[in-house]
Amino acid sequence: MDFSLSPRAADLRDRVRAFVAEEVEPAERGVHERLVRARESGGDPWTPDPVISALQAKARAQGLWNLFLPRQHAGRYAADFGTDGGEGLTHVDYAPLAEAMGRSFLAPLVFNCNAPDTGNMEVLLRYGTDEQRARWLEPLLRGEIRSAFCMTEPDVASSDATNMAATAVLDGDEVVVNGRKWWSTGVGNPDCKVLVFMGLTDPDAHRHSRHTMVLVPRDAPGVTVERMLTTMGYHDEPLGHGEVSFDDVRVPLGNVLLGPGRAFEIAQGRLGPGRVHHCMRAIGLAERALDLACRRALDRTAFGKPLANLGGNRERIAEARIAINRSRLLVLHAAWLLDQGLGVEAISAVSEIKVEVPRMALEVIDMAIQLHGGAGMSDDLPLAAAWVGARSLRLADGPDEVHRNVVAKIELGRHQATPGAPEAAR
Ligand SMILES: Cc1cc2nc3c(=O)[nH]c(=O)nc-3n(C[C@H](O)[C@H](O)[C@H](O)COP(=O)(O)OP(=O)(O)OC[C@H]3O[C@@H](n4cnc5c(N)ncnc54)[C@H](O)[C@@H]3O)c2cc1C
Repeated sequence: MDFSLSPRAADLRDRVRAFVAEEVEPAERGVHERLVRARESGGDPWTPDPVISALQAKARAQGLWNLFLPRQHAGRYAADFGTDGGEGLTHVDYAPLAEAMGRSFLAPLVFNCNAPDTGNMEVLLRYGTDEQRARWLEPLLRGEIRSAFCMTEPDVASSDATNMAATAVLDGDEVVVNGRKWWSTGVGNPDCKVLVFMGLTDPDAHRHSRHTMVLVPRDAPGVTVERMLTTMGYHDEPLGHGEVSFDDVRVPLGNVLLGPGRAFEIAQGRLGPGRVHHCMRAIGLAERALDLACRRALDRTAFGKPLANLGGNRERIAEARIAINRSRLLVLHAAWLLDQGLGVEAISAVSEIKVEVPRMALEVIDMAIQLHGGAGMSDDLPLAAAWVGARSLRLADGPDEVHRNVVAKIELGRHQATPGAPEAAR
């Protein structure tokens, strides 16, 4: 196992870190305050703050753009769409970059490396036709449009994707889409122009061949964003999460991804790297919380001592450092396995980190909130929103229980493969 960074990735990591520290983190407060003012005055909180577009232009000019593009699939796109060095990165090389971006709620968008667009772009890269790529992937890579992934439904337990009941029915040279989705991240943004929709096509087929993924233009007749949801009170602008109804929406057959009944193949390909990216960013979030906690612990005095020297605070800080470092190693391990294409081992590793990293981040952020007292609960600091973001991750892209089930299934499968074999022989 080799987690060492290539010289190019080390250089990119340093530049992304510096950009986040010098350009993005100082802009956060202003963006947040303008959002709050827009919401309170009945204005529009969804159109991205011009500060974000200015930062995007600057990042792109420096080649700090589309860095998520994976080496295996990037093809010409990294060179054509502004990634410094003109090539995609391995997952191991991307890990510290995503971590640096994860420190700030703005940064992933600034570098065009935010969910769900990265996952959707990867789907188009891997499975899209030339026509689909020209129409949707290229403007996404330029950051001109945004996208959403519409899988989860309010009426069925969506942690089991075979339950999806919304339909994508083939009708001559068209597909007719009906149903209701929710938690469609990104639909709040006015630049969101394409929805990756998963629907039931053939209820009689094998359970993993019943569903189809279809590209649905956001402005197609019959698509309605019914409402925007909040995560524990946060609106998560400028992307947001919406409930979307699809009422006899007709799109050309050419909008089907990969082929009818092949949604599960795509979901597998899409969600693996996407989950690792979430975990990489969550490590960055935990690092930010620990930075804030340490500064607070040293700068604030109670009962005649810095907070750091009261109670068990030194131990808490040490435990946080240990937990972050342990999680980072697990994430790098999963990234390395993905780079090696190690099927089952990679699947288990991705599910392992999807359980472990949000849990770790929640504990570290909670510790930082506690050290800040009342300030930690307020929106004057990024900690409360960070906690909610990490909490969401215990559900988004599959709840913990489903991922534990994946890990257990693989683990038990190893033993079932060789019944009765002595332990040493396995
Ligand atoms: C912030 C956020 C963003 C999201 N973004 C998107 C998005 O962009 N696109 C999209 O399609 N979806 C998105 N989701 C939805 C998310 O993927 C689903 O909420 C998740 O998959 C769970 O589905 P569900 O809500 O229907 O819960 P259910 O399937 O009803 O499950 C509820 C609970 O049942 C338990 N459970 C389920 N299965 C098992 C099991 N095998 N063993 C034990 N217990 C189990 C778990 O505790 C689980 O949390 C997002 C969610 C959040 C919170």
